[in-house]
Amino acid sequence: MKFAVLGAAAALPAAVAYNLPRQGPASSASSVPAAASGSSSTAAGVPGYPAGVSVASSFSALPSVSWSLPSTNPTALPLSDIVPGTITTQPQIGATTTFPAGTAPTDIPNAPPMPNWALLSPANYPPLDKPPPTDSPEVQQWIQDVQNSGIQIPNLEPTQPGGCPANPQFATDQSRCWWTCGGCVRDTDITTCPDKFTWGLTYDDGPALYTPNLLEYLDQNNLKSTMFVVGSRVISYPALLQEEYMAGHQICVHTWSHPSLTTLTNEEIIAEFGWSKKVIKDVLGVTPLYWRPPYGDIDDRVRAIGQAMGMEPVIWTRLSPLATFDTNDYNIAGGTVSVTQVLQNWQDIMGNVSSINTGFIVLEHDLFAQTVDLATGYILPAALAFQPKLDIKPVVECLNKPMQDAYLETNDNSTNPLPTGSNISPTFTSGAPGSAQASGNTTGGASTPQKTGGASSAASPLLAVGTAAAALLVACSVLL
Ligand SMILES: [Zn+2]
Repeated sequence: MKFAVLGAAAALPAAVAYNLPRQGPASSASSVPAAASGSSSTAAGVPGYPAGVSVASSFSALPSVSWSLPSTNPTALPLSDIVPGTITTQPQIGATTTFPAGTAPTDIPNAPPMPNWALLSPANYPPLDKPPPTDSPEVQQWIQDVQNSGIQIPNLEPTQPGGCPANPQFATDQSRCWWTCGGCVRDTDITTCPDKFTWGLTYDDGPALYTPNLLEYLDQNNLKSTMFVVGSRVISYPALLQEEYMAGHQICVHTWSHPSLTTLTNEEIIAEFGWSKKVIKDVLGVTPLYWRPPYGDIDDRVRAIGQAMGMEPVIWTRLSPLATFDTNDYNIAGGTVSVTQVLQNWQDIMGNVSSINTGFIVLEHDLFAQTVDLATGYILPAALAFQPKLDIKPVVECLNKPMQDAYLETNDNSTNPLPTGSNISPTFTSGAPGSAQASGNTTGGASTPQKTGGASSAASPLLAVGTAAAALLVACSVLL
């Protein structure tokens, strides 16, 4: 089985960090050995990939790559316009539909009526984009709930910011099963879809300014996705979250302030999960049963807390240290990865899709104009033209479960029992298929080639979007 190498970040300059709120884990599996960096490849020879128009693009100060896509959106923003910084060439689409209070989706049996989003008061929630305090009555209650859950939380010391290099002992501690350092997974981690050529479509870090553009394209093409939403973004865009939910997309937790969870205390992790679950419930009337760790930063302690709070973790497909299904799309805005490199990464993913016996899950974002423009203009059109035809669906449905199983209030407990102390604890005794190895690089530093068990590139940005539509307060952690 041959896996294409993803990414060419090793040749890139040090990451650009905008107003870095905190350091995340080093995550640099997209880095590749120098020999591979900057290499070009075309669609030729990629299984399932018909020959398309090959375009070579040179990006100032970034490696030149060539890519080929079988189909693009005729109305796509030209690649030359998808550049770092704030994009103004692509008009934003406003929220197209608002729903009166009491509306419920008709395609989810027993879905409760949605609350009135206009009554949502930010004053009732923690400050945006900051780890919530742990001494509030709400968090204290959630801490008690975790203690009462019957789930044993492993007594693991939080990691230091800086990822694997900053935590050499933890990085090699296989009993910790830290995905960031070696890709270790447990049975409870969802990293693929079981059926070959099935894509569990996901977008992270929204809802945001350009999310409606993505929703419009998905709707036009009858595609449903999974949205891992940041709690702070839900406060900023509650109507948009309702629109996503009513359109049939799966809504999942992606924390309140997008931290590296392994660096937090148990109580801080509970606060991140608790407030995210609460704001989603307050806007939609349902509570997600699935979550995704920011930066893919999960270990057994974080896993256990997530399960004690009734949620299953979804990461993304990782075949090897150098073949992780991460488009790296979030790094375009910061200028550390070119648009053509992201398309190359995606094409490599598509090449690997034919080589594996399962479906797959890819890391993409709806946070930036650039990531949405690439998704709607290039990645999704090409995916729709892929042969054999891909079955593209939300993660819960790629697991062959109905959408109603995505939420606590609508889940059918007879066919999809929720996690309990008795039925999930044994999963932690299973073996870890990945081996933890010290690797990675320091946050924001120059990339280090990953040759042995590299951390998967798991960085994703955090964007603070104010309620004023035009005001972008970027708090973006760009990690390589
Ligand atoms: Zn994220």
